[in-house]
Amino acid sequence: MDLSKIESDIERVIVDEKALQEKIKELAARVDKDYENKDLLLIGVLKGAVMAVADLSRALQRHVDMDWMAVSSYGSGTKSSGVVRILKDLDRDITGRNVLIVEDIVDSGLTLSWLKSNLESRGAGSVEILAILRKPESAKVEVNVKYVGFDIPPDFVVGYGLDFDEKYRNLPFIGVLAKHMYS
Ligand code: 5GP
Repeated sequence: MDLSKIESDIERVIVDEKALQEKIKELAARVDKDYENKDLLLIGVLKGAVMAVADLSRALQRHVDMDWMAVSSYGSGTKSSGVVRILKDLDRDITGRNVLIVEDIVDSGLTLSWLKSNLESRGAGSVEILAILRKPESAKVEVNVKYVGFDIPPDFVVGYGLDFDEKYRNLPFIGVLAKHMYS
């Protein structure tokens, strides 16, 4: 992507490409250690977690299965309501599997809290969460996120899978979207 074309769309970069890639390696090393000699199924939440699953899985030093879910949270505008609809379900049964949900961002926590319970109710052996970003000040429900990349302020961010109107997902860094883009 020619970044000069979108310079004025981004207010500031909060996680640059180098920091992101280093963090992914660090998280992958922890996952490798925690799941040593255990089965591991990565479940990516579409579409935001595509980059995270792609990079994390390649940084892991082991075999790993992948599956994908797409969910949509009913809510107004940019706010999540906690009422979740499954747009694309898993392809395979997860009974007894060690599931690691990979998510782009935890904002209110409502989506992940719902998703974790949903996967547990299907009989998974274990369900943990890895999120690249977390906004602690926006939390509405407590969700135990075992692997967190970065805690960030409650600004609307784009890049590395995160979109605004389906754009900016392919930025290699994470930046705060300039207010003039949506106000
Ligand atoms: P939660 O249920 O935790 O409030 O919302 C999680 C979902 O809201 C994320 O998976 C993401 O799709 C969306 N979201 C929350 N904060 C942001 C943000 O700053 N930027 C973008 N692009 N999406 C966000």
